[in-house]
Amino acid sequence: MFDLDDLYQEIILDHNKNPRNFGKLDPHDFCAEGHNPLCGDQLVLYLKVEDDVVTDIRFEGSGCAISKASASLMTESLKGKTRDEVEKVFGRFRELVTGSSDGESSAELGKLAAFRGLSEFPVRVKCATLAWHTLRAALSNGAATVSTE
Ligand code: ZN
Repeated sequence: MFDLDDLYQEIILDHNKNPRNFGKLDPHDFCAEGHNPLCGDQLVLYLKVEDDVVTDIRFEGSGCAISKASASLMTESLKGKTRDEVEKVFGRFRELVTGSSDGESSAELGKLAAFRGLSEFPVRVKCATLAWHTLRAALSNGAATVSTE
């Protein structure tokens, strides 16, 4: 796979094999669909939001290990966060996977820091950010389809 630290690689493999918050969320307040044609990843994201706080979040779909693990870790890390906090985490995550992060922000990301080695694989960055772009589309439009292309 990638030349990541063993621990980080383990987190990604684990979340790929046993994705958290996987399946449809019904009823939900927001939903969006995302595609990454370059790799063939696709997912649907469901959200419940109460008083500006993400109270529940689930996803379904199929794709490579990176896209699935990223969606799984994202859902796990965003439950209970406000929209503003979600934006902040996304900003940090994007910095991390594109290699523009300083060391401190990756410490704040917790398990999401598992993707830091991706900055050396620009093509796979789209796999890792697909769930995030889909999340933003869901929160801003209520229903949408996004593509990384
Ligand atoms: Zn992929």
